[in-house]
Amino acid sequence: MAIERTLSIIKPDATRRNLTGQINARFEDAGLRIVAQKRIQLTLEQAQGFYAVHNERAFFYDLCNFMISGQVVAQVLEGKDAIAKNREVMGATNPANADEGTIRKDFAESIEANSVHGSDALDTAAWEISYFFSQIEIVG
Ligand code: GDP
Repeated sequence: MAIERTLSIIKPDATRRNLTGQINARFEDAGLRIVAQKRIQLTLEQAQGFYAVHNERAFFYDLCNFMISGQVVAQVLEGKDAIAKNREVMGATNPANADEGTIRKDFAESIEANSVHGSDALDTAAWEISYFFSQIEIVG
């Protein structure tokens, strides 16, 4: 098992409901360490840049507008198999399909307002971390 880093975002539906502490506890309980974290308000341009991979999808416009509808908490999680572990803790994209005990099952409002983002592979994790954080902002 490799020690990995993954980019996590606590989305506006969750920051609006003051759930950041409860969500962070899920990560820590799963053995993931928060080695960088900041609360920010994305601009539309920044949200579109982050989700550029989805720019052909029908939901791209709605997704970017949702991501700027409130503050987000961007964070780097570190741990054994952090990318897969975080996806497990998050649950399926659509909360209706998410397993019991996952963040999305317990907190998500909809397939769009689904409380958290997590990188899905090593290469995307590296790119997504560098989108939000400089080397000097990551400890651990
Ligand atoms: P993820 O890796 O589980 O976050 O899922 P995706 O990469 O497929 O989608 C990125 C994000 O787009 C999701 O987390 C949702 O916020 C949003 N999303 C995905 N599918 C839909 C959809 O069918 N409709 C809308 N409105 N948003 C979606």
